[in-house]
Amino acid sequence: MTTNIILLGPPGAGKGTQARRLVEERGMTQLSTGDMLRQSRNSGSDMGRRVAEVMDRGELVTDDIVIGLIEERLDADRTDGFIFDGFPRTLAQADALAALLEKKRERLTAVIEMQVDDDALVRRITARSTCANCGEMYNDITKPIPEDGKCAVCGGTEFKRREDDNEQSLKQRLLEYYKKTSPLIGYYHANDQLDRVDGLGEIEEVSRAIKDVIDSRA
Ligand code: ADP
Ligand code: ZN
Repeated sequence: MTTNIILLGPPGAGKGTQARRLVEERGMTQLSTGDMLRQSRNSGSDMGRRVAEVMDRGELVTDDIVIGLIEERLDADRTDGFIFDGFPRTLAQADALAALLEKKRERLTAVIEMQVDDDALVRRITARSTCANCGEMYNDITKPIPEDGKCAVCGGTEFKRREDDNEQSLKQRLLEYYKKTSPLIGYYHANDQLDRVDGLGEIEEVSRAIKDVIDSRA
């Protein structure tokens, strides 16, 4: 039986950071709908352009689009398990995921809610950037780009910020989270699948808490 987990939490909770660590340490596969949608926007297709507008406003892309993206990847990838990062974000997406996993005879090992208060989210998001070459994530406050201006992982010298990481769009993303995504917490809790971790600690501490949850549920 493979391990499949959902990382649930508001923008800036640290889902992507933790997902990347699980990929390295456990050979799991990260499925980030945010990353997939950013690829689509960069592809220059018609759909990419429509997606870009919605994302930049901080709104959610339609369920059909993201469910389709996930379905493709679930079929294609062979792995020791999936980390769903930024998906599901609505109850309809949660139902679709349950059906897709059932079809593959897979189960959800755990749903991990990463708890971080709003002030911290805004501080984190407006401080973050990634290496344009390898995707390593940096944060002006907690994990600054090395002083020589080179990525610690790949030596790249170009760093980028996300277009939707501005205050206006972030406010909308938080509203969308509380309105459409946070109900999933109650849903998974009622299904006895939910565990919470404090997302405010050091990256290492949060990692350990997540691993404890996975091991206790596996
Ligand atoms: P964050 O968690 O920081 O908001 P993501 O990279 O997960 O960032 O998502 C960025 C944007 O992509 C969202 O604001 C939304 O527009 C879109 N998006 C990502 N995942 C989904 C999803 N599951 N359903 C609908 N829209 C999504
Ligand atoms: Zn790099």
